[in-house]
Amino acid sequence: MLVGNAAANPKIACFHCGELVRKKRVVSIVFDGICRDVCCHGCAAILSTVEQLGQSEQYLARKQQLEMPDA
Ligand SMILES: [Zn+2]
Repeated sequence: MLVGNAAANPKIACFHCGELVRKKRVVSIVFDGICRDVCCHGCAAILSTVEQLGQSEQYLARKQQLEMPDA
């Protein structure tokens, strides 16, 4: 049963690296006060490190730049 399974197994893009991961395998972490979904504990560790270093704002600003290069 490969057809029609996409809706039952939605994939979510990792908040950090953009990797698509099945919803049930997602790792959730609170970053900048909001619950984020990431693909693995490695990405979760990076986010918590960024937050510990107090660089959440810089991280989010840089991420926005990457997502909107023409802005
Ligand atoms: Zn990731």
